[in-house]
Amino acid sequence: MKVLVLNCGSSSLKYQLMDMEDKTVLAKGLVERIGITGSRLTHRRGEETKVVAQELSSHREAIALVLETLVDAQYGVISGLGEIGAVGHRVVHGGEKFAASVLIDAEVMAALAECVELAPLHNPPNIMGIEACQKLIPGVPQVAVFDTAFHQTMPPYAYIYGLPYELYEKYKIRKYGFHGTSHKYVSIRAAEILGRPLSETRLITCHLGNGASIAAVKGGKSLETSMGFTPLEGLMMGTRSGDLDPAIVSFIMEKEKLSAEEANDFLNKKCGVLGVSGVSSDFRDIEEAAAAGNFRAQLALDIFAYDVKKYIGAYAAVLDGVDGIVFTAGLGENSPEMRESITAGLGYLDVQVDPEKNKVRGREADISRDGARCRVLVIPTNEELMIAQDTVEIV
Ligand code: AMP
Repeated sequence: MKVLVLNCGSSSLKYQLMDMEDKTVLAKGLVERIGITGSRLTHRRGEETKVVAQELSSHREAIALVLETLVDAQYGVISGLGEIGAVGHRVVHGGEKFAASVLIDAEVMAALAECVELAPLHNPPNIMGIEACQKLIPGVPQVAVFDTAFHQTMPPYAYIYGLPYELYEKYKIRKYGFHGTSHKYVSIRAAEILGRPLSETRLITCHLGNGASIAAVKGGKSLETSMGFTPLEGLMMGTRSGDLDPAIVSFIMEKEKLSAEEANDFLNKKCGVLGVSGVSSDFRDIEEAAAAGNFRAQLALDIFAYDVKKYIGAYAAVLDGVDGIVFTAGLGENSPEMRESITAGLGYLDVQVDPEKNKVRGREADISRDGARCRVLVIPTNEELMIAQDTVEIV
């Protein structure tokens, strides 16, 4: 079956057409600036790239252009839209309703609309993408794969905050966690690489990209994760503050005269590594600046590594021991220096990283010394494959 994987953001969308017979990517691409002037599609088929500049006022127009390109006589990869067996959509928030991926029907659409309140920036474009496909390729089954679903196995004592319980009942304020598709994918791969059943593994999965989160995964189930009610909680990230004393928020609002919306924007977009370093939100720039002697860039790197190390220690306690620590996403897959800083001093878990093996970038590897009990793995994440697999299974 050929599966179209769609990840719709507010003004962009990413797509991949996968042939699930052999799990190959037939084509993939990105549409940018949807609803803004200067929209364009960048389509990739193998090594070839085709850019189409065309004004696109809605997600529906953007998806229509993607479909057109997929069947294009010159750049296409299928002869007709009938070859698309199913569409898998990345949906950010499934609330408490969805603990697994689901075939989309009218009832699911109604439930997704209810989740908008929990993810006002992310869920609306996800819904627009689904509605566009319903119009453009009616009859093709569509599946929603949620960022939050994997973490629905957390026990209540992990997901309830120290707030009046009524707020959970009234507003559904609780920890949800995100990046679930990525944590699930790397957990499954880690068990395969370690050569043991997933049900017998205790893993700490570190998704370290521009957004970053860690999960404690026991027997393939998420027991705890660092992101919370929103993706703001947990590790300091590219532009997000991560964990803070909550009193700091009202203090800043008062001092800087910020509205609730402005404060939320500030904490999500102006803080983290960007705010501490004053250099950039991109770890490559930070590593470069730190190497050139920039004190604040070095401080940002030190805070980040320290944060991850603290969470690893906490999650070792949650899991009652650790069999493997997994590094994934842009920074986790590509930065030997950051992996080295994080894992130094974890000897008490019998973590021993081999400096030679740790030089790896962007491909799967076990970077532990021979004989170390807790294995340290680098596993490039593949959320699209996970979405496509779930889609095939459900359809
Ligand atoms: P992601 O959100 O997973 O795409 O990760 C993006 C982040 O990964 C970027 O902001 C970079 O900071 C980081 N990154 C990507 N490649 C490298 C690299 N070679 N060295 C250090 N950091 C990297």
